[in-house]
Amino acid sequence: MGYNIAIDGPAGAGKSTIAKLVAKELGYIYVDTGAMYRGMAIYFLKNNIAPEDTEKIAAASKEADVSIGYEDGVQQIYLNGENVTPLLREEKVGNMASRCSSVPEVRARLLSLQRNLAEEKDVVMDGRDIGTNILPNADTKIYLTASVDTRAKRRFDELQEKGESCVMEEIAKDIEERDYRDMHRKTAPLRQAEDAVYIDSSDMTIEEVVQAILKRCKR
Ligand code: C5P
Repeated sequence: MGYNIAIDGPAGAGKSTIAKLVAKELGYIYVDTGAMYRGMAIYFLKNNIAPEDTEKIAAASKEADVSIGYEDGVQQIYLNGENVTPLLREEKVGNMASRCSSVPEVRARLLSLQRNLAEEKDVVMDGRDIGTNILPNADTKIYLTASVDTRAKRRFDELQEKGESCVMEEIAKDIEERDYRDMHRKTAPLRQAEDAVYIDSSDMTIEEVVQAILKRCKR
């Protein structure tokens, strides 16, 4: 069994930035589970399945084989053998991922992939249900969050930097809707594990958050 660090939290809390830095510092593998849901979402979009059609999503999830690999240490997502990594961050993909992740069959498809990775290797895995459901025995569990305003501002800055037009109020509304869906689904909802350390990064620098997590990782 590898050393497992689970980082859960809502959309835009900075999980991937932080998890990548923690993994680099420790020489562990970073596993972005959101990217796996995004990989699944690409399959549903390619097949023109509506996000509300949960029956079709459940059935189609059996045809979508998502796997993970690394190129120069950077995680790649393969969908039925095709590298779909460049498409993962598209807005429509994130939106579909947020909706299809409530379908139990979709979650079941990804569960063993995530568990097997942690079984074999030292990992920093981020997501919504890692400490509560995927790796209940993780060595270190973190619940990383920030206020909606902070998360919306970070996302706004990111989009502006990419030259994409955006409206702060719409980003905040989208974040609140995603939070609601993640926290209220029946299967593996987002919540803080009882033994997770709660970190609110609203007024912390990236470096401070990384150090706060490293302090809690003892082999
Ligand atoms: O973190 P990211 O935005 O890439 O995740 C995409 C979507 O996948 C999220 O909106 C969330 O609903 C879902 N997800 C999940 N469980 C995870 C990781 C992501 O339900 N462990």
